[in-house]
Amino acid sequence: MRVREFPKAVRFENMAIGFATVKGGVNSHAAILARSLGLPAVFGVQALSGELDGKQAILDGFNGKLYFEPNEATLKAMAEKLDETRKKRELLNKLKGLPSVTADGRRISLYANINHVTDIDEAINNDAEGIGLFRSEFLYLDRKSAPTEEEQFIAYKKVAVSMGDKKTIIRTLDIGADKQADYFKLPTEENPAMGLRAVRLCLAKPEIFKTQLRALYRASAFGNVAIMFPMITSVREVEDVLMIVNEVKSNLRREKIPFNAEAELGIMVETPAAVMISETLAEMVDFFSIGTNDLTQYTLAADRQNSNSGSFYDPHHPAVMKMIEMTVKSAKDAGIWVGICGEIAADLELTETFLRMGIDELSVSPRMLLPLRGKIRGMI
Ligand code: PEP
Ligand code: MG
Repeated sequence: MRVREFPKAVRFENMAIGFATVKGGVNSHAAILARSLGLPAVFGVQALSGELDGKQAILDGFNGKLYFEPNEATLKAMAEKLDETRKKRELLNKLKGLPSVTADGRRISLYANINHVTDIDEAINNDAEGIGLFRSEFLYLDRKSAPTEEEQFIAYKKVAVSMGDKKTIIRTLDIGADKQADYFKLPTEENPAMGLRAVRLCLAKPEIFKTQLRALYRASAFGNVAIMFPMITSVREVEDVLMIVNEVKSNLRREKIPFNAEAELGIMVETPAAVMISETLAEMVDFFSIGTNDLTQYTLAADRQNSNSGSFYDPHHPAVMKMIEMTVKSAKDAGIWVGICGEIAADLELTETFLRMGIDELSVSPRMLLPLRGKIRGMI
């Protein structure tokens, strides 16, 4: 038997433990999906791919250890750990229906991150108090042309209706970088994470953006929909976004199509630029959601996709913590709410720090909702 240990920075999914046959080839898109499926996964281990293919392995996502060709004693110990994990989960199920409130009475909004409409069931089963991030770009992936307004409307409406009066934050298209759709026929970029992605692409191709916004606003008549814009780096971008939003709203009004004109509009704070001008941005929108996955890569100049930057990509880095703190302060000063929807929102080691900073909302993959509620309530 061989054991390989991974540093925290490349570890992923700290709540699951499982038995797996290992296959090589992953990226951060896969990481997001693995987490939402509750699969234990370790990324960025090129040195091992191929070598492990087809062999039996056990991945302990709690401590980042991968045992391959495990011996009898390890198999037994891991089976016991798996059993213990299931028992803990049963205990956590008792937290369903209870508020996410701290010992001193502060209520935190505990929302779910989802990627597909079908993830909604898992969010509801884990007692999500809302949807904090619906990554709408997954509707655009793995197909030959962009989804129509009607197709999008049906998807957004389904999520909004399923959540009832609970907040449903849908993020506009964040394509580019790690998520590509060929039919956009974008020029190949040497550095796509810093190129035409997310809101930049939407502003460069306003027809695509307007189609999505129409679908979102139409869905807003059926639930508590809020709209969030990714990758903001300037005041100008927010002004341009709001101008297009107003145009879309006027058109819907003229066409007598019902929508919620008061739907909250927020931005993701996921670039150092947005943090540095967060005081001004906070006056322009209804909420901030901090995207620590990108904020970490841009703050530390460490590509989240590149396994060689694993040890540099550290969401716990004091520079990232300071960025979060600054953003929270700007939000508080302007009287808007602020949450975190990046992966570290689920990091139970940081929950107290986030609460101390004044975070109002945490949005995490559905399977992390109950452990996080337990942590907020001081049970864990
Ligand atoms: C983030 O960057 O933290 C985030 C939540 O967005 P994504 O992971 O989809 O880029
Ligand atoms: Mg992001």
